[in-house]
Amino acid sequence: MKGTVLHSPGDVRFETVDDPTIVAPTDAVIRIAATCVCGSDLWPYRGLQPIEGPTRMGHEYCGYVEEVGKSVTSIKPGQFVVGSFATSDNTCPHCNYGYQSSCTQREFISMAQSPVLRVPLADGTLVPTREVPSKESIPSLLTTSDVLGTGWFAADAANVKPGATVVVVGDGAVGLLGVMSAKHMGAERIIAMSRHEPRQKLAREFGATDIVTERGDDGVARILDMTDGVGADSVLECVGMQESMLQAIRATRRGGHVSFVGVPHGVALDGQELFFSHVHLHGGPAPVRRYLPDLIQLVLDGEIDPGKVFDLVLPLEQVAEGYRAMDERRAIKALLQP
Ligand SMILES: [Zn+2]
Ligand SMILES: [Zn+2]
Repeated sequence: MKGTVLHSPGDVRFETVDDPTIVAPTDAVIRIAATCVCGSDLWPYRGLQPIEGPTRMGHEYCGYVEEVGKSVTSIKPGQFVVGSFATSDNTCPHCNYGYQSSCTQREFISMAQSPVLRVPLADGTLVPTREVPSKESIPSLLTTSDVLGTGWFAADAANVKPGATVVVVGDGAVGLLGVMSAKHMGAERIIAMSRHEPRQKLAREFGATDIVTERGDDGVARILDMTDGVGADSVLECVGMQESMLQAIRATRRGGHVSFVGVPHGVALDGQELFFSHVHLHGGPAPVRRYLPDLIQLVLDGEIDPGKVFDLVLPLEQVAEGYRAMDERRAIKALLQP
């Protein structure tokens, strides 16, 4: 088959790769219904994260089970499944505490931008739907695999409660779905920090009540201004840069919560500032598996429509254009159809 391979910064190819097969008895092989390009794929694409030679890409996926290994019990051929970007046995202590993305057997999925995918630890990683879902629901189901799961974790880790004032730093797909998640959790005021008009519009559609275009110290000053000088209850940091992290901490009220879900690149925090900020910090790779059953149900019940973040749909073989469009910020998120 053909799959997506990053050869060097800016050089994504859809080329012949090995066909996935069952390797371990706990594996499943699934036919991909839809996959997509992630903001985190852009780090190596832009040369900001080194790669060692040609690298298979893609970690957001849903699809139909084709084959399972001998010891797989709960996943069966023919089922429609969604899985996290991090595999998990769902039985170790970290999994039991709800941190499946720190599973002692964790592997990161990295070959999902292809028509067929091998998923290790199928029983613990994959969540099947009761019935094969409609074609229309597939984009939204795909988001639960990472981008919605991560936005949801951002809101949960920032302790979003009914009535809360929430700030979302970052207007990528995760930030936008962080807005949606905060809205669903009952936030009263949701301030999205964004400078891009199409993203501001989507943020409002997802529940943002205010938009702040300023960044850095000016952005912090605006938030303090809007909250009587106090700061927000919950701030979701969905970027992973020094400026955005400081912006998040400084926009939070004393005793408030900051979540951080963007993979940090060059973030260093000053102990003194952290000490006197009086904030709770909680972040990391989102334990998407914890939320998958609930998020899948919310999508199937029509409670949420997170698939709206896909503003570009391409045939999988045009994956390189998906990367280009996202890199140039012509697209928020590109969905790829095998
Ligand atoms: Zn992702
Ligand atoms: Zn585990």
